[in-house]
Amino acid sequence: MKRLCTICAVFVVIALLIARYAPEDSPSADGESHAWETGVAAAAAASGDYLLLVNADNPLTDGAPDFEIVSAYRVVPLLNRNIELEAGTLGALALLFRGARDAGIENLVVNDGYRSRAEQQRIYDATEDKAFVQPPDCSEHQTGLAADIAARGVDRDEMAGSAEGQWLAENAWKYGFILRYPPDKIDITGISYEPWHFRYVGTEAAKYMFENGLCLEEYVDKSD
Ligand SMILES: [Zn+2]
Repeated sequence: MKRLCTICAVFVVIALLIARYAPEDSPSADGESHAWETGVAAAAAASGDYLLLVNADNPLTDGAPDFEIVSAYRVVPLLNRNIELEAGTLGALALLFRGARDAGIENLVVNDGYRSRAEQQRIYDATEDKAFVQPPDCSEHQTGLAADIAARGVDRDEMAGSAEGQWLAENAWKYGFILRYPPDKIDITGISYEPWHFRYVGTEAAKYMFENGLCLEEYVDKSD
């Protein structure tokens, strides 16, 4: 009996320690996390790697870049809990989702983020219409810098004309994201219009591209 009481006491002490040190701003059930939003987003803005251009002409021949890929679970709303993103991208995305909620848009959800090369190969092989899928090493999803954002209750085909799609197209730049494949740049990007695919480039570059109507290919060209 004495031994049992000792074990109970140990559990009580552990429980008290957990209660004492649990961070007050740990991710809440609705996906908000203040720690992510401040620290990680600031680090994101400082890095030039976020301008990495990945497309059919610029494949990831040396493999995916050495970015920190982290779980997005409980940071932003997800289609499934296995979705991952590059750390800075995720921090900025949390801010975007908060901005959307402040604007009355509460049904956004991340459908897809980081993909390994093997996953990209599998998706490419399984997709009949290649207009919306890149071969392995040619997809931004292998960097973790791209997120596919959907709106619950809105079909993919109707995303562009929806309030959610329009809010994203008009406001994503404020959080460092660009609508990566706009309808008027198909001849340059080589990719069909994807109103759901947003790419993190940092706030400075995103603002410039939005204000000057440039896609990433044009912006990177200009920077050379
Ligand atoms: Zn995508």
